Amino acid sequence: MEFKGKTVIVTGAGKGIGRELVRMLIERGAQVVALTRSAADVEALQQESGCRAIQVDLADADATREAVIAALPADFLVNCAGTTELQPFLDTTVEAFDRLVAVNTRAPMIVAQEYARSLIKVGRKGAIVNVSSVASFVGIPDHAAYCASKGGLDGLTRVMAKELAPHGIRANGVHPTVTLTPMAVKAWSDPEKAAGMMKRIPVGRFAEPADIAEVVLFLLSDQAAMVNGISMPVDGGYMIA
Ligand code: NDP
Repeated sequence: MEFKGKTVIVTGAGKGIGRELVRMLIERGAQVVALTRSAADVEALQQESGCRAIQVDLADADATREAVIAALPADFLVNCAGTTELQPFLDTTVEAFDRLVAVNTRAPMIVAQEYARSLIKVGRKGAIVNVSSVASFVGIPDHAAYCASKGGLDGLTRVMAKELAPHGIRANGVHPTVTLTPMAVKAWSDPEKAAGMMKRIPVGRFAEPADIAEVVLFLLSDQAAMVNGISMPVDGGYMIA
């Protein structure tokens, strides 16, 4: 898949899946505008990949809108940023719940609204990929707020797919299983928990960031022109196990 001459906005581009996505997009000819939080990552992205990087805390709705407007125009959008905090359901705090929904659900909505408005205004086509999780399909202990935030994101993806497709803009979701990134270290460093999860993945391993990024690139590309509104697990068969 070639992305020559295409501009792609990637949120959460500083680490993990987003960082790998930036690398692969640039390798395939795209211009990338990266939105991410840590100043060190913004600097590294600019120096290593030469992409444009904008520092923003996606938990801040106004700052998020400002950042995406500054990033436009773009051909494609990947809402990849996400965050998690582990709390048992009974101990899930309102503050943590609100933080996760702000970053994992509300920010993708705001970013996609501005991206789609800008395309519709000039009559251009596009594609959005929202990076969700297998956690939106199942209940994972200690992940109540995370599961809920990703379930909300899936709802947004489906509505975007219906409302934006008549304007030539497709929207799809990608649902990784445990992927070896800094987030996975946070959520799966307990070896007993990790072993239990691994046992449910028929291919016998966790995902690498590139496994997820390849599927994202496919869904953005014209090869996926008839794919709209799907929730695509990238999980080594976890969902059938
Ligand atoms: P990482 O934690 O490795 O990277 C997440 C990136 O998002 C970082 O660059 C981080 O920046 C950025 N980010 C997080 N919060 C904010 C914020 N408030 N404002 C701006 N940027 C922010 O995560 P992954 O690469 O693992 O995850 C990418 C996506 O994949 C997420 O949506 C996640 O939910 C999903 N996913 C991941 C799985 C996994 O096992 N890794 C499994 C299933 C889904 P900073 O570090 O500066 O905060």
